Amino acid sequence: MERIVWRSIIRKFMVSSIACLFLFPAAPAAATPVPPLKGKIIVVDPGHGGYDPGAVRGGVYEKHINLQIALKLKKSLEEKGAAVILTHDGDYNLAIPGLHAREAHRYDLGKRLEIADKSKADLFASIHVNCINAISCKGAEAFYNPGSKTGKLLAECIQAEMRSVPGMEKRTAKTRDCYVLSNARIPAVLVEVGYLSNPDERKKLLDGNYQAMLADKISRGIERFFAMETSG
Ligand SMILES: [Zn+2]
Repeated sequence: MERIVWRSIIRKFMVSSIACLFLFPAAPAAATPVPPLKGKIIVVDPGHGGYDPGAVRGGVYEKHINLQIALKLKKSLEEKGAAVILTHDGDYNLAIPGLHAREAHRYDLGKRLEIADKSKADLFASIHVNCINAISCKGAEAFYNPGSKTGKLLAECIQAEMRSVPGMEKRTAKTRDCYVLSNARIPAVLVEVGYLSNPDERKKLLDGNYQAMLADKISRGIERFFAMETSG
């Protein structure tokens, strides 16, 4: 008798389970979203390094801030699916012994661009900090080569993102005649992330969270650039 009751319970359970399968079929597996920068190769260039400190003000060296932001930018771009190559990942530059001053500087910059050529990169982004005599000047600026349409779009995309940093001076993208921008064969940008000469901005630029925010904005600008480039 007991066995018959159990059989009946099991049968009812099986019938209701099969009915459930028909009434509520399993939802099709959602397609995994493709990371926005998948397939892109990006060269991130921390400005200066080694014996070339870049700007120095109030005991702060530009080269250190450039490297810290570049490392954070690399991480952010990789999270979006890009392959990222740093021109250098420590406190050194790419010049060789025996070269001096201007010659060494030119060699260093040439080697940075060579990395972009050899890696068949899609984009070159150089990170710097500005410094002038007037202490009141502040804000991030993205620079492009005057002859490069894609460079202009890239700089404008990054500048647009930078404008959303709380307290950031609202600046516009500008042209600049400099070696890496003039000689890059791919869309290139040079971002001056702020002014070392402005005491308030200098303090912010030393803060890891602020650096991460700037890296995130540059990364978003690069993402925006590729989205606009492919759509139009
Ligand atoms: Zn610099």
